[in-house]
Amino acid sequence: MPQTSMGTATSAAREILTRLHDVMAARTNAQAKLNQVVQIIGEAMHSEVCSIYLLRDGALELYATRGLRQESVHVTKLGLGEGLVGKIAEQVETLNLDEATSHPDFAYKPETGEELYHSFAGVPIVRRERAVGVLAVQHEASRRYAEIEIEALQTVAMVLAELIAGAGLIDDAQAGGSTREAGPQRLTGLKLVEGMGRGHVVFHQPRVHIEHTVAEDTEAERHRVYAAFRQMREQIDRMTNQAEFGVAGEHQDVLNTYKMFAYDEGWGRRINEAIDSGLTAEAAIERVQQRTRMRMREISDPLLADRMHDLEDLSNRLLRIVAGQLGTAAQMGLRQDTILIARNLGPAELLEYDRRRLKGVVLEEGSLTAHVTIVARAMGVPVLGRVRSIRQTVAEGDCLLLDSTQGSVLVRPTPAMEEAFEAKLIVTQKRRAEFAAMRDLPPLTRDGQRITLMVNAGLRDDVAALDVTGADGIGLFRTEFQFLVSATMPQRERQQRLYRDVLDAAGDRPVIFRTVDIGGDKALPYMKGDAEDEREENPAMGWRAIRLALERDALMKVQARALIEAAAGRTLSVMFPMISEPWEFDTAHALFESQRRWMAERSRPGPLAIRYGTMLEVPALAEMLDLLLPKLDFLSIGTNDLTQFLFAADRAHPKLAERYDWLSPAILRFLGRVVRQANAAGVPIGVCGEMGGRVLEAMALIGLGIERLSITPAAIGPVKAMIRSLDVAALRAVMPAWLAEGRADMRACLTEWATAQGVAIG
Ligand code: PEP
Ligand code: MG
Repeated sequence: MPQTSMGTATSAAREILTRLHDVMAARTNAQAKLNQVVQIIGEAMHSEVCSIYLLRDGALELYATRGLRQESVHVTKLGLGEGLVGKIAEQVETLNLDEATSHPDFAYKPETGEELYHSFAGVPIVRRERAVGVLAVQHEASRRYAEIEIEALQTVAMVLAELIAGAGLIDDAQAGGSTREAGPQRLTGLKLVEGMGRGHVVFHQPRVHIEHTVAEDTEAERHRVYAAFRQMREQIDRMTNQAEFGVAGEHQDVLNTYKMFAYDEGWGRRINEAIDSGLTAEAAIERVQQRTRMRMREISDPLLADRMHDLEDLSNRLLRIVAGQLGTAAQMGLRQDTILIARNLGPAELLEYDRRRLKGVVLEEGSLTAHVTIVARAMGVPVLGRVRSIRQTVAEGDCLLLDSTQGSVLVRPTPAMEEAFEAKLIVTQKRRAEFAAMRDLPPLTRDGQRITLMVNAGLRDDVAALDVTGADGIGLFRTEFQFLVSATMPQRERQQRLYRDVLDAAGDRPVIFRTVDIGGDKALPYMKGDAEDEREENPAMGWRAIRLALERDALMKVQARALIEAAAGRTLSVMFPMISEPWEFDTAHALFESQRRWMAERSRPGPLAIRYGTMLEVPALAEMLDLLLPKLDFLSIGTNDLTQFLFAADRAHPKLAERYDWLSPAILRFLGRVVRQANAAGVPIGVCGEMGGRVLEAMALIGLGIERLSITPAAIGPVKAMIRSLDVAALRAVMPAWLAEGRADMRACLTEWATAQGVAIG
């Protein structure tokens, strides 16, 4: 078959597609159609053999052939992975061989008479991301097929998938399985929020299933793609401009790559060519993406693989625009117990999901202190991060067993795996029950030191955690969560109602309200303006938290009044985030006091007292503590931000998620110094970052002199168990020497010490 007889890939595919279109429209039965299809392809490609195998009951059955013996139709069957055809289906990959019989996977089927044919090319027929059959051509002569021939075959295979599904020749439920392997698989990742959950796969950005592949009107399809490109570019530009708020959890470098691809002329041209060959807009986008995927599979460069992810995302976005399927899975609602799959999420996006049905989240990216992780922790939803291949490995509806405590997720588990999971779940529940039984026991160390254990909260429902855990109060109430879950800026009455409800639920236990910490990766879609004008390179270090609040002081005043009114007749504790210099505290303090006066002048009831504190999360503030401490009622260390700034390591950057240890001597020495200063000034000091919710880290903090921890509710039990088995004096006797030596193995030292001392570190 001379290559020239095929012309270009586009015209070759077009010729075949035009004829296939007529076959599909004809009122003949499915078998007759397939018989015609193999003739058409065989003729167009001048190939002696053209065969279609379809997956039925786990085997690939020869359904139609031109060239092989007709007696073998519906007789020849190959298992998944068996022979060349089985391998193509199992691996969802194309084979192009000049000498088929010498391939290690070749399986001889005498009934077909195929020993006559030397060359072989086969492509998978894919539906819903899974191979449902194989289209193969064979030639007597030994030759490798030209790229245009392979491409034409791949395009035809797409159309065949539609024809086959339309004719009911494959079971769509069967096709709803996953990609390469349908069997169970265990994937590992980074534990972001510990816990276990069972549910079915839902993609945060649902996949588009292409129903029509052959175009009726090529020009109309071209216009649909042009319009979708325009819309996608606008979206990307908008996201890049809003990146200061980390919209959709996307990173700036990802957005830059999106932008590069979105404007890439080569990509647009290839889609256009696919449309020229007779495909619909959706099929053309998918066809080009399939081709890129295949090319990239041959290159094992991790950087390129990352870019491939970006292009894959963008291609899906374009598909969703063309298909008019724009919403996230949250907008469609969860219908059953769900494990949500995403590349990354923003905190507001996560909050849109139904908490009762959301049993877990698996992310390809993610980091321990990103706000989406904190929100998930507050929601009690287990999260596993950095599972690189999850979106390729699972399909919508697959069953998943998520055990983020173990850092793993089981995909399509066997009944035995499900049983083991259930058994472990019972053990975990038992442990939780043991912790719950400690609810009323005080967090008292073995040598009699009372540690204050409080919870972090932010959502209305979180206050229930106070009673469940028996915590001493709420050490950090993230008021911005209410702003994040709202479609519009919450007005004073709404804020006040929330604060009052929280105070009512807390009773006489203290609640520390932190004024809004928005910006960074906490996006407020309704708060535009400055954000659009000035794109930020480093949003975490940008216009956020107190910086934004002092400039937008109307927002801060409204919040101050809401808090003051809500706390009428009680003590109000207010804390300011991201204070970097003492004057910022002074200004915020003055603003609150002015609001208090304003209300008092109008005889509105106010709090008995206001206690003012600040977060210590910007290292510069530590240098100014001698000046600031005398003005404070309390100080709370936000280790999430503090450590990202100490190490100059973005807290949300997936690649840095595990790089620096909270137990590094640099962090511990820094914290130790701050604790000594606060103690000397007689100012209560605590930790409210995620670090305090980890058992070993909490022990180290106590060893440094910290006596107040505000942590995620789920950590109260394990941390209390640790505290009750700890001899603080003994720990404080050993830690200074380790820190003085600057030991790089602090984690190992502390673990060894705790184990030897019988401290319950889990
Ligand atoms: C912190 O930075 O440690 C902190 C508690 O605040 P947030 O995580 O909300 O930034
Ligand atoms: Mg912070």
